[in-house]
Order: sequence, then C-alpha cells, then structure tokens
Amino acid sequence: MSKLTGSKKATQFTESVIREMTRLNQLHGGVNLSQGFPDFPAPAAIKDAACAAIQADVNQYAVTWGARPLREAIAREFSRRHGVPVIADEQVTVCCGATEAMMSTMMAIIDPGDEVVIFEPFYENYGPDAILSGATPRYVTLREPDWTFDPDELAAAFNNRTKAIIINTPNNPTGKVFTRDELETIAALCRKWDAIAIADEIYEHIIYDGQRHIPIATIEGMADRTITMNGLSKTYSVTGWRVGWTISPPSLTGAIRKVHDFLTVGAAAPLQEAGAVALGVPDEYYTKLAADYQRRRDVLLDILERHAFTVYKPGGAYYIMTDISAFLTGPGPQTPGLADDMDFARFLVKEIGVAAVPGSSFYKTAGGGRTKLRFCFCKRDETLAEADRRMERLVPAGVQVH
Ligand code: GLN
Repeated sequence: MSKLTGSKKATQFTESVIREMTRLNQLHGGVNLSQGFPDFPAPAAIKDAACAAIQADVNQYAVTWGARPLREAIAREFSRRHGVPVIADEQVTVCCGATEAMMSTMMAIIDPGDEVVIFEPFYENYGPDAILSGATPRYVTLREPDWTFDPDELAAAFNNRTKAIIINTPNNPTGKVFTRDELETIAALCRKWDAIAIADEIYEHIIYDGQRHIPIATIEGMADRTITMNGLSKTYSVTGWRVGWTISPPSLTGAIRKVHDFLTVGAAAPLQEAGAVALGVPDEYYTKLAADYQRRRDVLLDILERHAFTVYKPGGAYYIMTDISAFLTGPGPQTPGLADDMDFARFLVKEIGVAAVPGSSFYKTAGGGRTKLRFCFCKRDETLAEADRRMERLVPAGVQVH
C-alpha cells in the first residue's frame, strides 16, 4: 500500500465543518452566520496598543509561556473577579488562541487509554483534540430545551481511567450556562475519581439575563485540579489575533508549557502587549459587551422564530441552536429532498444565501444533530437584517405557496 497517505490519526476526523461553511458562504456570496467571529470593529484602544507595540519593536519572540505583562494581567483579573489566587509565574501559559491552549493541555495530560468526558453537543474541536492526544472520549448528553444532563449518566461516564472532563461554559453551541448545582455535581465526580476539570471559559463575559459566570476552579477542592482556558478572541472581538491562555495548577504547568513550546514557541509578541492593555479595561466594558450581545441575541431569536425555526434561547455565548424539523418533513415547495442538517445547511447557503452550521458537527453519536442548525449573532445589525431579508424566501416543508 502506498505510503503517500495521511496518518491514521489524521484520517479519523474530517475538516472543520464550521470553517467549510465560511468558505461555502464566500463562494455563494451569502450572509455568514456560521463561523463565530464578529464583523464589527475591535476596540480602538486595543488596536492602538498593538500598533504601538509593533512600532516600539516588540517584534521578537516573547518568553515562550507568555510575556510577563500579559501573564500578570491574566492572573490579576482572574483573582480579582473570582477570588482565587493565581501566580503568573507558576500557573499561566499564553498560547496561540484557546484552540492551542486546549490542544497543548490535552497533549500534556493524556496517555493512551485515558478517557475524557465530553458533553454532547460539543464544540467541534474537542473531537480532533481527543484523537490527536490519544484520549478515548466518553460522551454525556445535554438535552434540549435547557441542555441539562442526567447526573446518573454523568456518574456512569466516570471510572478509574477518567483523566479529565471538558466543561465549556457559557457553552458553544447551545448557549447553556452551567449552574452552580451542575458544577458541584461535576466537581464531586472529579474529586471522587481524581480527574482534572478542563474549563473552556472563552465566552465568560458573554452572558445574559443577569446570570453570573461561575468558573469550576472556584468550586471547593477544584482550584488544584482545574485547567481554565480563555483568550482575547471573543471578549475583545479579535478572533484573528490568536492569543489565548491556560491557568493551571503549578503541578501541571510544566507539562503544558513544554508541549506549547514545541508546538508553537509562542503567541505573537506585540499582540500579547496589547492583550495586557485589553485586560485592563474598566468593568463597564464587559457590562456593555454583554448588553450589546443580549440585544443581538434577541434580534436573531426574533428573525429565526419568524422564519419557522424552533429556537433554544441561549443564556450565554453568541450562538443560537435551532431545530429545523419543520423544513425537513416531506418534500416542500422550496426544500425538496432535504433529508437532514447537512442538506439543509447547503440549501440555505446556496439557494437562500445564509450560512449556518449543521448540528451534526457538534455530535459524535450517530444521528445526533441531524435536525439542528447553529446560527451565530456576533454581527452588525445590518448583517442580521440582511439575513432576515434573505430568509423571507424560506418556506417550511409542506407549506403551499400561492
Ligand atoms: N468558535 C467559533 C465557532 O464555533 C470559531 C471557531 C473557529 O473557526 N476557530 O464558530
């Protein structure tokens, strides 16, 4: 057999459907509500700080685990907001986005045969992260409409081989915000089975309806078994900068830093300087960010409901999961032969001109997500209004057009 093939690992997962949808959208000139990135400007002060750093010749490698001003700011802000002491030198590692933070973490802590518990639906990266790190994933279902889990199902997913559980709150794709009770349940299992909590908190500040974000690191007994990750992308609308980080117990930091160093050496040095400035903005910035996103959420909820989608109102993050069964049942006038989420997502971008992400990209279990579609609302009002206008041509299956 030819050796000119990808590795076994690389053939076990497909390319990112989220990024594929962005490309399809470009091809068809659609409105992109698939890949979650803002189409409005980043804050001027943060952009100025990045330009100033480049002009000041902060253009060579930063310390591999992150420039001191940024690491200090990360430690300071986590302690200030959540009351958990963090020592920058022993616990913070700056990576190329939370994506690399997750991959470095998984590679740093997983041995072959180790199991990792993942809530399903999950952010699509966690699947390949598990395969590339050699972890065996154990999926636990989050059930709509509230995306709650069955504590017995969760307990049954833990055993002696469980090395870690991934908790993403606020959650992509569901918008679920894990409650204190739920986090306590997870924490008790982590303590019982000596497992690590990997907390992806990238949407920490994008949270609605007066709820508060609770990091699992703040639950009793969890600070020394939690690796928290976050980044600049979502909070400061700079997804292309690729600056993220981990906050880990000192006992795990060395392993994460070694993997990170040999994967990437380090994140962009001038953007790390700007990151330190970003983390120093006054609290009103975060209040306004959440309020602006809540308004956009309500705008898109209204649009989708008017166009016959079943919506699950998110409590955080900037996505809306929908059910598209109304468009799949039977051969409708505009949607002939649309069997599942993939068919519908392709139809929507090609024929209607709106890109969204097929639900199955967030499920591993066969058939999971086949009646679901995820839309993002990190977009300008004009963008959402244009999607609204285009979706006027969308007619649910079985509805006759006269
Ligand atoms: N997190 C974003 C999403 O889910 C963007 C993912 C990406 O393309 N890196 O759409």
